[in-house]
Amino acid sequence: MGGERSILIIYTGGTIGSVHDPMTGSLVPIDFSQITSHVPELNRAGISMDAVSFDPPIDSSNVNPSHWRKIAKVIFDYHDKYNGFVVLHGTDTMAYTASALSFMLEGLRKPVILTGSQLPIGMPRTDGRENLLSAVMLAAHSSSGKQEHSTIQEVAVYFGSQLFRGNRTHKESAESLDAIVSPNYPSLVKAGVGFNVRKHNLYRAPAGELKLHNKFESNISWLPLFPGMSFEVMERILNWDELRGVVLGTFGSGNAPDNKLFKSLLKSAQSRGVIMLNITQCGHGGVHQEMYATSLMLADCGVISGGDMTTEAALIKLMMLLGESDNSDQIKAGLLKDLRGERTV
Ligand code: ASP
Repeated sequence: MGGERSILIIYTGGTIGSVHDPMTGSLVPIDFSQITSHVPELNRAGISMDAVSFDPPIDSSNVNPSHWRKIAKVIFDYHDKYNGFVVLHGTDTMAYTASALSFMLEGLRKPVILTGSQLPIGMPRTDGRENLLSAVMLAAHSSSGKQEHSTIQEVAVYFGSQLFRGNRTHKESAESLDAIVSPNYPSLVKAGVGFNVRKHNLYRAPAGELKLHNKFESNISWLPLFPGMSFEVMERILNWDELRGVVLGTFGSGNAPDNKLFKSLLKSAQSRGVIMLNITQCGHGGVHQEMYATSLMLADCGVISGGDMTTEAALIKLMMLLGESDNSDQIKAGLLKDLRGERTV
């Protein structure tokens, strides 16, 4: 494709496209044409843009796998028509959607950039204008000199002047304009006067056609542990007979109480074939199951180390692998592998 780069914007909702309802004072969504009217600079970027919208746009707290499928299908169907994609999305669950899209779109070689904002696009101090403009420019970016080669070839999140790998992100702040962070992987691009692209951090998919995965298992749970947690709560979750997988939210480098009752619950879940994944509650760093007796106990019960994956990426990866297979060895092997740059191996 020569000449002007073209991108497709998929508008799902979120604060970026909201205004204050004068009656209730709460934020309500506006449509996409109203958003672009706040960013006239988009017309001067020299990029051809089309847009599709969720009807109605939604707050990202309402997002579920049916919405991930909808977004991924649009990208899959229009993959050859556009140079890149921008997904406007609420920040609350952006890290989950970014993780989901990264796992769904195997073999992706074009940019899929999610962005949103902490302040609505019409507000004087909004972060939405810069986020939208930069996301659009990065989705159209080609630095190789070959028009057909996009600089970014993965699902990423643009926020707070940085581009992050999507499945490494986490919403850290409900207040700061740098709300989204990537605790265990450096940023892909730092935006200043220009875009500082950190080439060695970029993901490149192994050879193969673009493939769409869209099955997710919902009979999974997240079980963050805390001192003094009642045995009954653990029991209700781990003994649920429909449970197929669980992410344990552990302490420090992956530790959990090594008491007999908890161990008996884990052993029973293991014998029923429940897949158990260990993810630290710490905001930074990962699980090292061999470090303390309290984590060796988990390994002894068949719990798999989640390494340095975020909780968001771990939950989605578990949902997808369980959705696609009944073979526990295959699922466990997949969890330990780095499928889309989501964990350091
Ligand atoms: N509640 C909003 C959402 O996630 C927050 C935001 O967009 O920042 O949809």
